[in-house]
Amino acid sequence: MKRIHNFSAGPAALPLAVLEQIQAEWLDYHGSGMALMEMSHRGHRFMDVASRCEAAIRDVLGVPDDYYVLFLQGGATAQFGVVPQNLLGANRTASFVVTGSWSQKAFKDFAGFGQAHLAASTEAQAFRSLPALTDWSLQPGSAYLHLCGNETIHGVEFAEDPPVLPLPVVADLSSNIASRPIDVRRYGVIYAGAQKNLGPSGLTLVIVRKDLCRDVLPGTLSINDYRVMAASESMLNTPPTFAWYAIGLVFQWIRDQGGLAEMARRNAAKAALLYGYLDSQDFYRNPVTPAARSRMNVPFLLSDPSLDKAFVAESEAAGFEGLKGHRSVGGMRASLYNAVTLADVEALVAFMKDFVQRRA
Ligand code: PMP
Repeated sequence: MKRIHNFSAGPAALPLAVLEQIQAEWLDYHGSGMALMEMSHRGHRFMDVASRCEAAIRDVLGVPDDYYVLFLQGGATAQFGVVPQNLLGANRTASFVVTGSWSQKAFKDFAGFGQAHLAASTEAQAFRSLPALTDWSLQPGSAYLHLCGNETIHGVEFAEDPPVLPLPVVADLSSNIASRPIDVRRYGVIYAGAQKNLGPSGLTLVIVRKDLCRDVLPGTLSINDYRVMAASESMLNTPPTFAWYAIGLVFQWIRDQGGLAEMARRNAAKAALLYGYLDSQDFYRNPVTPAARSRMNVPFLLSDPSLDKAFVAESEAAGFEGLKGHRSVGGMRASLYNAVTLADVEALVAFMKDFVQRRA
């Protein structure tokens, strides 16, 4: 068996130890005589998997008791509408910080729900920096302020949790959740599609402060009502059981490795190695201002874009997966999620140097 170096943006690399545990439990889950995927979600075995997963999430992320932990479907994308359905209330106004493609999508998808206030945007800077907090225009009367903690396509990341603001912060942390310690109390809602740092695709983790959940907007389906989903332990309908199980294993793996502090240490080391190399030569470059650079998604451009195709083809042939940049921005991108190792990044930098030798 040969495992490649997986730099995909999502679905993405999973910890090898987790994959091995899944393999070991695959055909006969804990003496049940069946695979976990074959079991009822209402049976005691799966209920146990589900509750241990939530306990590990609460422990690793430090989720206080006055927050729900929900396992929802429809991806992070569904939350662009589900958040307003649950939080907007009567005055129907929300504020948005737009720092890249994903926060822009959330901003645009909100349009049908009410009045969207643009608190800050870096679109004029081609999403290569972050707006200084002092420049955010905070609108009184907004139900919440939405931001994206890490822009997966543009490679910009808020290095810290948002400060205490006069309105609740709703954060899309799809691509940097569980990559460093966070203070959950700084957020009213955190949501994240699982398929980057948390597990396979199929579930969206939503962490929401209980008192922010209002009566949903008229017409909202029960499946999108946070309070209904909390009351049914996220099992109003059939959940993707495999994803739920795998996410639980990933959180246990994070805890075994030393928790979020250790994830942060590793992620800083990986990002420092790659950015250090990118900044040390002029064959490749990262376009983002240093203070705004993502530790999770590192876009880079070749100074001669006519070599892009060769870079992608040769990197794939050499055992590197997922380096082609997002179609909307071009170039390359290396995603350095928790399961990507320092050795993977060392191998990537060695390949990049070798490519320069051959092509410069
Ligand atoms: N937000 C961010 C930051 C993302 O990276 C993505 C997926 N790449 C999404 C939202 C959409 O997630 P999903 O595919 O789970 O709907």
